Amino acid sequence: MTDHTFDLAVVGSGVIGLAHAALAAERGLRVVVLERTDRPVGASIRNFGHVGITTQDGEGLEYALAGRAHWLRFAERAGFWIRPAGTMIVARADDEWSLLERFADMRGDAVELLSPARVQGHATIADPRLVGAAFCGNDLRINSPEAIPALVAHLAATGVEFRFQTNVTGVATGIVQTSRGDVHADRIVVATGHDLDVLFPELAEQDGFTRCLLHMLETDAPEGSHFDPVILTGTAVTRYDGLSQLPEAQSIRERMANDAPELIEAHVNIKMSQRPNGRLVIGDTHAYAQTHEPFKDEALDLLLLREFEQLLGAPLTVRRRWHGEYATAAADDFYVREPHPGVFIACVTNGTGMSTGMGFAESVLNRF
Ligand SMILES: Cc1cc2nc3c(=O)[nH]c(=O)nc-3n(C[C@H](O)[C@H](O)[C@H](O)COP(=O)(O)OP(=O)(O)OC[C@H]3O[C@@H](n4cnc5c(N)ncnc54)[C@H](O)[C@@H]3O)c2cc1C
Repeated sequence: MTDHTFDLAVVGSGVIGLAHAALAAERGLRVVVLERTDRPVGASIRNFGHVGITTQDGEGLEYALAGRAHWLRFAERAGFWIRPAGTMIVARADDEWSLLERFADMRGDAVELLSPARVQGHATIADPRLVGAAFCGNDLRINSPEAIPALVAHLAATGVEFRFQTNVTGVATGIVQTSRGDVHADRIVVATGHDLDVLFPELAEQDGFTRCLLHMLETDAPEGSHFDPVILTGTAVTRYDGLSQLPEAQSIRERMANDAPELIEAHVNIKMSQRPNGRLVIGDTHAYAQTHEPFKDEALDLLLLREFEQLLGAPLTVRRRWHGEYATAAADDFYVREPHPGVFIACVTNGTGMSTGMGFAESVLNRF
């Protein structure tokens, strides 16, 4: 069975595939999205919904800044919840505060330093070690499990064709082979995230693709608390280029390795975001492997709970737990390859696809 021709076929309906589909449709292209499951259930609905702009650096910062306007526009058109709530990076030690001072100096108006009293205006941080915080007002917060399906529904209603339960088994110039027959398209974008190694095993091997696995929890918020911005803490120095490259980051990492080696060992990033229904999404841990064990280690969840109970000064009741996976690569953070003419592989491999994916997709489409 063969099919009529599209301008663009996108493989994968996560945020990277949807960003390509949405921006290509705006450019007037006829787009089809091919997705093996019956709805998106990958990394893009499992995250914090943090569109974190200010802590990116270099290419990532460029993509995140460009992506902000796209998120706001699509949220309005598709009718999903979005809040320009910002990010608050909480300092609980003097070296963390020094890092935030340097960060604020470098980023100018994009970062505002807050005293402990002003921190409480944004979020209820009860940890007595609180020294202050940096507020990044440009950043956005969305509710991914709602936003991603809403974007699919909006795109489908405005002419993008979606074929769910359609597994892609091979890609070549102008043709996508699927479990439901061939699809023809002038250009093809492969946005399969961490499953790139299934379709392109040699490339994935050559460029050092692995799967990063994260533990995530959803809890009730402590009684009477409020959390508007996404909350980051000192552990952010282990993850975001805009912070990790500052000279103060090294001494923070060394202190953490000394005082709390279990956090370093589990690659913990103490990060939190509040859903519109009030629940807190808390995480995360990071582990790297080609294929992960299916067993969820309770010790890691307990470690996260311990850290958050300290930060928020209250016991937390867990409502949901899940794993998420994203691709990492030894090669570029913003991975684009053209293995056949007109076939583009597009993958964000540093765990920032919600923040940078929109701007990144725009740059891939500009190559056409
Ligand atoms: C727990 C967690 C928290 C995170 N938090 C944040 C955050 O707060 N902010 C941020 O910026 N980033 C965050 N990230 C990273 C971000 O979520 C990812 O970078 C992004 O979602 C990756 O999008 P994707 O479209 O590449 O992958 P996915 O969302 O995984 O989508 C890939 C899609 O491709 C489909 N697919 C795969 N193979 C095939 C095939 N052969 N045929 C058809 N379909 C196929 C899959 O079914 C899937 O739907 C987080 C990630 C995780 C896991």
